[in-house]
Amino acid sequence: MPAGDPPLTLRDLDAIGITRLRNVGRKRASSLTEMEINSVLDLLQHYPRRYIDRTKQARIAELAQGEEVFVEGCVERSSSRRIKQRRRLVEVVISDDTGRLKLTFFNQPWQEQSLRPGRQVIVHGRPTRYRGSLQMTNPVVDLVGDRTGRFVPVYPQSEKASVSTWEIAKFVDQALNRCQPRGIADPVPAGVLQRFDFMGRHTALNGIHRPAAMGESSEARRRLVFDELLRVQVELVRRKRRLERHTAGLSHATGGELLDRFLARLPFPLTGAQQRVIEEIAGDLALPHPMHRLMQGDVGAGKTVVALCALLTAVQGGFQGALMAPTEVLAEQHFETMVSLLGDLTVPDERRLGGERPLKVELLSGSRGAADRRRAVAGLATGDVEIVLGTHALISEGLEYRALGVVVIDEQHRFGVEQRAVLRGRGPGSVMPDLLVMTATPIPRTAAMTVYGDLDVSVLDELPAGRTPVATSWARGPLEEARVWAAVRAAVSEGRQAYVVCPVIEESDVLDVRSAIETHERLTAGGGELAGLRVGLLHGRVTPAEKEATMELFRSGRLEVLVATTVIEVGVDVPNATVMVVVDPGRFGIAQLHQLRGRVGRSRLASSCYLLGEAVTAEAEARLEAVVASNDGFELAEADLELRGEGTIMGERQRGRNDLRLASLRRDKEWVAVARDVAIEMLDADPDLLGHRELADEIELLLGDTDAEYLLKS
Ligand code: ADP
Ligand code: MG
Repeated sequence: MPAGDPPLTLRDLDAIGITRLRNVGRKRASSLTEMEINSVLDLLQHYPRRYIDRTKQARIAELAQGEEVFVEGCVERSSSRRIKQRRRLVEVVISDDTGRLKLTFFNQPWQEQSLRPGRQVIVHGRPTRYRGSLQMTNPVVDLVGDRTGRFVPVYPQSEKASVSTWEIAKFVDQALNRCQPRGIADPVPAGVLQRFDFMGRHTALNGIHRPAAMGESSEARRRLVFDELLRVQVELVRRKRRLERHTAGLSHATGGELLDRFLARLPFPLTGAQQRVIEEIAGDLALPHPMHRLMQGDVGAGKTVVALCALLTAVQGGFQGALMAPTEVLAEQHFETMVSLLGDLTVPDERRLGGERPLKVELLSGSRGAADRRRAVAGLATGDVEIVLGTHALISEGLEYRALGVVVIDEQHRFGVEQRAVLRGRGPGSVMPDLLVMTATPIPRTAAMTVYGDLDVSVLDELPAGRTPVATSWARGPLEEARVWAAVRAAVSEGRQAYVVCPVIEESDVLDVRSAIETHERLTAGGGELAGLRVGLLHGRVTPAEKEATMELFRSGRLEVLVATTVIEVGVDVPNATVMVVVDPGRFGIAQLHQLRGRVGRSRLASSCYLLGEAVTAEAEARLEAVVASNDGFELAEADLELRGEGTIMGERQRGRNDLRLASLRRDKEWVAVARDVAIEMLDADPDLLGHRELADEIELLLGDTDAEYLLKS
């Protein structure tokens, strides 16, 4: 790479195969490929997990019993022998110029292979005294090879890929040296670098891989994190703008009589948050381009009423509305809720005698007969059916609508950009209907900017007045368990009802069902904790008709307790149920527990939720403590992010958009907001990024997959 050529872009680096590096032959290359390192770009983006500060090392002679330290030494000998139960014990001796240290490894037979005599290693651990001398048992080992720097990067490595961290460090070193003459291009505008005091990209890559001081690696990290976040935000904001600019939508008439009538009939006043979000939605609906809005709201915040307002606005202007739920059970539940909220609402209709017609709402679901279904499908085509509820089949099955105006999706994290593109052309005259996505799993604001960055976001952050917060407690041990069942019996004797939720087991439906059946049997058998009560059972394997029958028995109060799997997680609405028992709660995530708890506390009655059982892991313990400590879905979402990292939040939606190697939505949350502001600023000034071609190009390179799919569908 001769000097004089322009600096290397990420696309250039991506085009340089890993085999072009010295000492990367066929075998190394295939190991690297296993680690998804195919090009110099991949290699440079394979960031160190941590650093070993060689200035903070102890010498062997200075070691003290029980004190955690790093020690560097050279392997003198290693051997292994079999100990009881066919396990292996590896013994290694390392030395520096002050003395010798023995290391012992139980059950790590590979250590004998990797710790060959002559190798330079750094071990991290706590010396213990054994037969008069100090030794370390199962220390963490890093091979440093012949590294000389003060800070040794430690790279993520995989056991089976058999490339050591010091080999990776050498390849990275070599790659960076070879980039030196041309330099690495920096697509971020100089003004932005200056404003946030960022180092250049080339300096940052050097600084993160081979820092001369600890501070350098964190400054480098800050810069590279910003790059990742900026790319994602530019892409999301651009995508959002493109939709707004290039997609024809409907301009709905808002604030008409139908909506007023509906609101006037509600048996409760709207919360301030509901009013605000209804206004936000009305604003979108009135505009000529399609709405893409996400409504985040905690369990019980009253999302259904808001969704209905959007659907009724469509109807009022002569369009149709559709609400899609992730499952049939939920679609049915929404249907019932809506029917009861709508009552016998009539639509003003000048073309009719008396000027009124009843509002026609239909459910499209497998549980309905073929004749009913046919009638509903025909009604959609003629426009007789004005609001329809169902699953994703509502948009994917080639159903015909006379004039589909508003689509509401009850998401539960299952609806992505790809599906959204399907909506294009489904409105009358091939325009795009307005879209409202609702989710009961709130996520923190900055995370929402990334995960839902191409949507406008409304937050329903207020519970209706008069709710008594659910009192949650964690019952551990037999004594407390007895108290839980006593509480269930007490509630039932006062005319209330209870849920007992059994966990999902290892994603296996069969075991799942079995655990519910067994719990039901154990509780109701003679001498069982709930013997003598009327206890129903609900799980994923019963037919829709049985399920409906059981739900109806529970709703009407003929069943006092319902033992169920998580099929009741969302949507089930029986205000008289005031006790929730979650068996083996450690198996649930925070969001899920919070969601489950939302099934009680749906009236003025005081409700309680009991988490019954031990937490098996420390993380599970932290989750349960968080759920006990807070009733606020947003607060819990923050806690969840802290505990589990972003993986959980990104989920499906984030596939293909995972350019976030270094950035963490948790650690770097202030930078998410900064990156979004910068993205908006750049796109305001230059909507097509004509003056930022390099940036546009690397976005395409790194985030291109989803984009391609997206364009294909639009
Ligand atoms: P979400 O879907 O947000 O969990 P729902 O829409 O199912 O909540 O509403 C939960 C319950 O609260 C329902 O019984 C609903 O009728 C009732 N509700 C909704 N809005 C209000 C309000 N403003 N005041 C009182 N009750 C309300
Ligand atoms: Mg709901």
